[in-house]
Amino acid sequence: MEKLYYEKPYVKTFEAKVLDCRPGKDGLYEVVLDRTAFYPEGGGQPSDMGRLGEAAVLDVREKAEEIVHITDRQVFAGSTVTGIIDWERRFSHMQNHSGEHLLSGIVHKHYGFDNVGFHMGKDEITVDFNGVLSWDQIEAVETEVNKIIWENVPIRESCPSKEELSVLDYRSKKELSGQVRIIEIPGGDVCACCGTHVTNTGEIGIVKVTGLTKYKGGVRISMLCGKMALLDYQKKQNSVSGISVLLSAKSDEILGAVEKLKEEGLKKESRLNQLSKELFEKKVMEYPVSEEPLLVFESGLAPAELRQFCTMLYEENKGSIVLVCSGEEDMYQYAIGSRSVDMRQLSKTVNSRLNGRGGGSAKMAQGTFHAFMQDIKKVFQEELKGE
Ligand SMILES: [Zn+2]
Repeated sequence: MEKLYYEKPYVKTFEAKVLDCRPGKDGLYEVVLDRTAFYPEGGGQPSDMGRLGEAAVLDVREKAEEIVHITDRQVFAGSTVTGIIDWERRFSHMQNHSGEHLLSGIVHKHYGFDNVGFHMGKDEITVDFNGVLSWDQIEAVETEVNKIIWENVPIRESCPSKEELSVLDYRSKKELSGQVRIIEIPGGDVCACCGTHVTNTGEIGIVKVTGLTKYKGGVRISMLCGKMALLDYQKKQNSVSGISVLLSAKSDEILGAVEKLKEEGLKKESRLNQLSKELFEKKVMEYPVSEEPLLVFESGLAPAELRQFCTMLYEENKGSIVLVCSGEEDMYQYAIGSRSVDMRQLSKTVNSRLNGRGGGSAKMAQGTFHAFMQDIKKVFQEELKGE
């Protein structure tokens, strides 16, 4: 099996002979070729996709010394097929993988931490380090990494002998056996790796860190390289421009503008709470003190206001049990409370009769009735007043 993806990593189409094509899982086929440019999943890099003649290549895996292409239809053993790599996908992998080398190499150089986990997802790349880095530190790493990209240095690949390896200082995720493939970026990284990489660092385009979180005693870094970073920038630029217009603030001033907006919102909310409390106090006074259950309909109340109004009514002894409803048509929010009667069973009863949902404590229950006003009134009469 000739591994074209190592010999000529920029090969996008190739001819190969089909050695075997057998039925696989889920109606798919497993195809083995005499040579392939399809990279099989490995070392954190996802597999290539593309076509083998008429067949779509959905996945490629290396197992038991064999590279198996998973295809959606049969290709015939003994025939010659043209393989076409989904180049956009592969080149993005090469950009991201090469960028990850640089970032891991620079982190290792300055802080001595190892890359202990690497995942190339559809939307982001994550790299886990076994040590803690601050955002400032990772920004400094990012700057140094991009400097090496601008210098456009060659990324070298070699397969050193055992003797050469024994004196070489390189990063490796595990103890390696057999032939070790070394990827070297002068000034950036030396690492054992089985993936595909660009030839010069300039092709990475850019490395951008997009996230930093604590993870298993170290950190997890999210990053994007090349085209993925550009797409992310475009998306974020659209968000920033939109927010900037909405806030009538320059794009580099939107953070301050949002903070101000949030502060103003909190002040308004606090004022509104004060006003609604005063309003409820006035409304509560309109009801006489009573030992009878009380039903109140009030429009436009939010759940917190329902609770507040209901509590004020029963605490001021305006009813033995107070049911406050707010809503329209056949949908009402409610709060039911009492100083002396347990609300848990009662709320279950009214819920079951009024297509209701919700619950609460002994003093208060809250929820929704899927019922009309006259139904609520009827159930109130029957269940609470016992008429
Ligand atoms: Zn690599």
